[in-house]
Amino acid sequence: MNDMPALRVGQGIDVHAFSDDPARPLVLGGVVIAGDGVQGLDGHSDADAVSHAIADAVLGAAGLGDLGRHMPDTDAEWAGADSLDILRRVVALAAEAGWCAVNADCTIVAERPRLAPYVATMAERLAVALGAPVNVKATRAEGLGALGRAEGIACTAVVLMAAAPSVTADRPGEVR
Ligand SMILES: [Zn+2]
Repeated sequence: MNDMPALRVGQGIDVHAFSDDPARPLVLGGVVIAGDGVQGLDGHSDADAVSHAIADAVLGAAGLGDLGRHMPDTDAEWAGADSLDILRRVVALAAEAGWCAVNADCTIVAERPRLAPYVATMAERLAVALGAPVNVKATRAEGLGALGRAEGIACTAVVLMAAAPSVTADRPGEVR
């Protein structure tokens, strides 16, 4: 083709509603966020919207569909799962397809709680799971819509992936 390195971009978005169950912890980017009045999110796994958005972006970049296809929420294996494990599994699937991450960037939309004290730790844990640098940003919905009414938390992510060095030029996607 040409001398351009084989690069692919993927994007992901995930939304979870707050849970009524006071025992559910709030987990974002692999970090448990504690504090008075902090509600957990509803979901089949630990409902970590940040890990899920990044995992979906990895699958998108690698052309592997979406998270629901690989880890359906009807599958008991993923009930209460640590979503960093889900991200690691997805990274392994992408590696099998010949793609490794270059970097990721994500934005959490949360009216509350305040996430600024946690984003650096999230970025560290996500980077270990992804095997590449991760940037984590947090913003508010300024009172608008369901997110603004603090009914849940959303996260968007983009991931850049490069062809793994062992991938052959004439058989892209195939690892030698
Ligand atoms: Zn999710």
